[in-house]
Amino acid sequence: MISAYKFLVRPTVGQAQALGEMLRDHCSLYNGALQERRDAYRHVSRTSVKYGMQSAQLKEIRAFDPECQGRWSFSSQQATLRRLDKAFQAFFRRVRSGEAPGYPRFRGANRFDTVDFPKDGDGCRWDSTPHDPVTRVRLQGVGHVRVNQHRPVVGRVKTVGVKREGRRWFVVLTAEQERPEPLPATGSVVGIDLGTANFIADSNGGFVPNPRHGRIAAAKLEAAQQALSRFPRVRRDKRTGNHRRAVEKVAELHGKVRRQRLDHAHKTALALVREHDFIAHEDLRIRNMSRSVAPRTDPGTPGVFLPNGAAAKAGLNRSIMDAGWGVFLTILTSKAESAGRVVVAVDPRNTSRTCPECGHTAKENRPTQEKFHCRSCGRTAHADTVGAINVLRAGPVRREAHPA
Ligand SMILES: [Zn+2]
Repeated sequence: MISAYKFLVRPTVGQAQALGEMLRDHCSLYNGALQERRDAYRHVSRTSVKYGMQSAQLKEIRAFDPECQGRWSFSSQQATLRRLDKAFQAFFRRVRSGEAPGYPRFRGANRFDTVDFPKDGDGCRWDSTPHDPVTRVRLQGVGHVRVNQHRPVVGRVKTVGVKREGRRWFVVLTAEQERPEPLPATGSVVGIDLGTANFIADSNGGFVPNPRHGRIAAAKLEAAQQALSRFPRVRRDKRTGNHRRAVEKVAELHGKVRRQRLDHAHKTALALVREHDFIAHEDLRIRNMSRSVAPRTDPGTPGVFLPNGAAAKAGLNRSIMDAGWGVFLTILTSKAESAGRVVVAVDPRNTSRTCPECGHTAKENRPTQEKFHCRSCGRTAHADTVGAINVLRAGPVRREAHPA
């Protein structure tokens, strides 16, 4: 099984400069190789230049230009040439099938953001200072760069990539795990209810709150996007300094929101997978289809209805996006798979209005968003906990397997 990892790296000022130069030189290598193919293609002989021919020239190019091209990893340069080759293969494939594709284009220095190292240990070394508590990645021509390794890498690192996003730098790894090591069985099963007030509620009465910082970052992102929208649409190289900074700000905040959401999802999923052999959750597709906007009563003033029109719906959608359930469930499923756990999606209909005690099902059982109060047997509980219990019971688990 191959897993991918992406970590923020913290280069020194000198290293950041070297990284920039590395991208620039790989970009010019890419464009130079593209130029060569272009010239050959336009020539009357319609010669086509192959990857092998260009790769064979690398040695000369490096020897001729030791200050620039000669500094970087041979393999990473091959990877860049291979990337160009892929673009050409796609181009010719589409020509052959009768389409009229655009000829592969030159890349501007701002549009060239990644350098790949096809093999760990060749021009790069993941965890180059293993005895130091700080993780580093060594990159040829750059040095040992600090890595913000927020989660462990499982398995053997196969490929290493360096990516620029706005002003930040990331290292992207792929690692191969020999075979997933199943976690020891715990004998525990759980149902989870995905909510907006809480990120999840579980069938044992536990809650995982929403990442609050996620909402703050989202608000900042919205403000930054508004600020950016005030600049006229102009070409990249015609932008003013303020305009460029506004673009960078948006990119940076986008990344931040995404990283925080992912981080929260990873942690939540890991905790669930460690504790339980079996996890049932609502099928989001069914749930989204059957959801409608219900009138909302003001909990402070009985009889007063809060607005529930388009704005409320947009707000709800906003927090749905914010909570990122889809992302979370994907992560949960993949973690469960490698740990030998079972995750099932169940039909969520009626899970919020059925009494777990007596089975009485009625809309009235849920007087408010948060409260469950059975009209038949009088049982009260948090509505999301009831939802989670019912989700668990809807899964293909025998009732007696559940301790409650
Ligand atoms: Zn009841």
